[in-house]
Amino acid sequence: MSSITDPEYLPVMESFYTIQGEGFFSGTPAYFVRLGGCDVGCVWCDVKESWDASQFDWVSIENITEEVKKSGAHVVVVTGGEPLMYDLSMLTKKLKEAGLQTNIETSGAYPITGDWDWICFSPKKFKEPLVEFYNSSHELKVVAYNKSDFKWALGHSQKMNKDAQLFLQPEWSKEKEMTPLIVDFVKKNPEWKISLQTHKYMDIP
Ligand code: SF4
Repeated sequence: MSSITDPEYLPVMESFYTIQGEGFFSGTPAYFVRLGGCDVGCVWCDVKESWDASQFDWVSIENITEEVKKSGAHVVVVTGGEPLMYDLSMLTKKLKEAGLQTNIETSGAYPITGDWDWICFSPKKFKEPLVEFYNSSHELKVVAYNKSDFKWALGHSQKMNKDAQLFLQPEWSKEKEMTPLIVDFVKKNPEWKISLQTHKYMDIP
């Protein structure tokens, strides 16, 4: 266990080269950097072990970048936890200097820092997102856990910039129940697409 406040270090829960399983880049090889720490509190969160950042070692941005370069990946996905709890400017600077595509997955609960090629904004009912994400994000991904989430998703999509990709994704434990409802919804609202967590079907991280 360690914690420091040097902006050149970040608490890394895990990092690995895999296939992005969901959303717009589904099927794309990508190096994942999962940062520890989240206070959003989703009841269905499938990475609750990420919430307490104090459990993770702080890794230098230089080391993170070197590991990505060694993997051979072209795309980096920074996720969490909630990665924007930290200032990510230095991280994206180094990743971009290395010629890497920078993608982030965020709940939108904290201000954007860093230079991102792709922002996947996945708002949560448990902590209100910041308004800046509606303009700045490339992708809106709403996780559907119950029927009321469709109306909630439409409320967010109406505020999104016109170029944003819209995805509905069944929450994994409710996948059997929610997927048929999402299919119906998308047929009636064709600006939306379905995102499935294909990495879970492939049994990869
Ligand atoms: Fe879990 Fe993500 Fe929700 Fe945080 S924002 S509680 S990491 S699902």
